Amino acid sequence: MIRSYVADLHVHSVLSPCAAVEMTPRNIVRHAAEYGVNIIAITDHNACDNVTAALEAASDSDVTVLPGMEVETKEEIHLVVLFEKMRQMKEWERFVEAHRSGRLNDEKRFGAQFVVDAGDNLLRVKEEMLLTPLTAGVAEVSAQAAALEGLCIASHVDRPVYSLINQLGFIPPDVILDAVEVSRRVKPQEAARLIPAIGGLPVITASDAHTIDDFIDGPKITLFLEKPSLAEIRQALRNQNQRKVVV
Ligand SMILES: [Zn+2]
Ligand SMILES: [Zn+2]
Repeated sequence: MIRSYVADLHVHSVLSPCAAVEMTPRNIVRHAAEYGVNIIAITDHNACDNVTAALEAASDSDVTVLPGMEVETKEEIHLVVLFEKMRQMKEWERFVEAHRSGRLNDEKRFGAQFVVDAGDNLLRVKEEMLLTPLTAGVAEVSAQAAALEGLCIASHVDRPVYSLINQLGFIPPDVILDAVEVSRRVKPQEAARLIPAIGGLPVITASDAHTIDDFIDGPKITLFLEKPSLAEIRQALRNQNQRKVVV
């Protein structure tokens, strides 16, 4: 039976240097449960070390966590990539690690990058700078996501920075996208009219939360699915088999 799920497919944890320390996987999952957010994706910049903790934190709740990452391509474009399983996420992580700059994070300037467990304990501090472009371009990154059966969503295409449409002016035909995301500045229903480069791609919205307040107040979508899985979300984005997205 198809039912509705409230989803936020773009949430940063304490691994992102720009996120608040309150953004532990456990705290995000707790607030998701409290505020009726059924599906969340943990999408830290160029890394996924806190996804396992989020999956574990959600294991005894009704919240579904999707493994994810927000990558920055060579062109300084942000893409949210989501996977069904950790197996694909791990393979994706190897691809990203092979394309990271190798520079070290300047904690004072950018913020610390914390890896934690499901009980909010600090496991380690990630040394490598995550807020930096990969050496792979947007077409290669999107093709790799597709090869691993992930969903690839262009982040905040309405923003003036780190946005596919603002960086390139258009969506190149060799970039494989499942959707574009707009931030709260633009109504998703009006996005294709205001930003014609979106063309016919599905438009979603997400909180892109870096704080718990962002997460609670930020935009979300409603998905009509049989179960909360990536395969079902893919169908919803394509409007297949009565699955759909309501923004
Ligand atoms: Zn971003
Ligand atoms: Zn983000």
